Amino acid sequence: MSKLPHTATSIFTVMTQMANQHQAVNLSQGFPNFPVDARLLEIIARKTAENVHQYQPSSGYPPLLQKIARLIFDSYQRKVNPDTEILVTAGATQGIFTAIQALVYPGDEVVILDPCYDSYETPIVLSGAKAIHVSLLPDFTPDWEAIANAVHSKTRMIIINNPHNPSGRIWTETDFVALEDLTARFPNLIVLSDEVYEYITFEQPHVSIHHREKLHDRSLSVSSFGKSFHITGWKIGYLVGPESLIKEIKKVHQFLVFSVNSLAQAAISDYLDLVDVTALRPFYQNKRDTFRKLMANTPFEWLPCEGSYFQVASYAGFSSESDVDFTKRLVTDYGVAAIPVSAFYADGKDLSHIRFCFAKDEQTLAKAAERLAQL
Ligand code: PMP
Ligand code: GLN
Repeated sequence: MSKLPHTATSIFTVMTQMANQHQAVNLSQGFPNFPVDARLLEIIARKTAENVHQYQPSSGYPPLLQKIARLIFDSYQRKVNPDTEILVTAGATQGIFTAIQALVYPGDEVVILDPCYDSYETPIVLSGAKAIHVSLLPDFTPDWEAIANAVHSKTRMIIINNPHNPSGRIWTETDFVALEDLTARFPNLIVLSDEVYEYITFEQPHVSIHHREKLHDRSLSVSSFGKSFHITGWKIGYLVGPESLIKEIKKVHQFLVFSVNSLAQAAISDYLDLVDVTALRPFYQNKRDTFRKLMANTPFEWLPCEGSYFQVASYAGFSSESDVDFTKRLVTDYGVAAIPVSAFYADGKDLSHIRFCFAKDEQTLAKAAERLAQL
């Protein structure tokens, strides 16, 4: 009997395979296709000649832990202790998995907000806990009434994702106040804040859990260098939280990976001395705007995109197909791959929405637009 009878191959793998098979322009899985910063490539080449090829301390390469603490201070004016409050992980995915394994008990409930990223549910199930899916409102903002109704004494954790994949919406001050009110009523409730797109917000600044002092003693933030430095294949990120929680997470981490790829840690540590993460905002805002301009001749309706590198489009105005069928037809008949948003809902809710990733060079985006203009 399978421990995960309902877990199938991820939609991101499925769509990328399909895109490759049909030589389609791949705007499905979220990864950039433009070159990595030449300075980072130069650093990693130089680092390979240094003695950084052996195990590092389980929590992370010490200089990198220091640099992460500095980055958090510079970005959010929050002081964290690099020795006790940070853990370097093999991508945000491992951070999420490890945190859930360490902190969630059999019989617990974990609230997740649909549509949501696919790596939350499985670690919850493997912990013997139950995922409680609460839908976001139709505009993809949190439904505080529904969330409050779902949270009770058995709720161990709520997972939030801001900026949000797939919708590109971001959290407001009001959302955080509602979360603070809720957590005040449930002293054992932990907040796991997935902020892998923290440096990619557009007209409005990102409000991070790092800004919310009231939540610090019970919150974990998850970050991804893969997303922030266009190196998704390096699989490196980090968790930040209070010592009491990080201490427990480190126990699991020790036996899941022990320590993360040393060369990547050493290279990113040096790179953090020269990279300007605030440059990501104008860079991706320009991509979003270029993408939308290029797509002006297509029949889609574009939903708001406040952050992340995803843009959701509605095709309800010109097709009544399911989003899965529609997405398949886009690949086979038009040569463009996207993600059906129903894949992000536990109940497969289909709102005739598909998600495009615009973290691509202009030529790729233009080719996709040209093809989709035939719709
Ligand atoms: N969270 C969200 C919301 C994501 O979109 C992704 C995909 N990159 C991840 C976590 C995983 O990040 P990583 O590649 O660093 O594991
Ligand atoms: N986060 C990426 C996305 O949403 C996918 C990462 C993966 O394939 N696991 O497209």
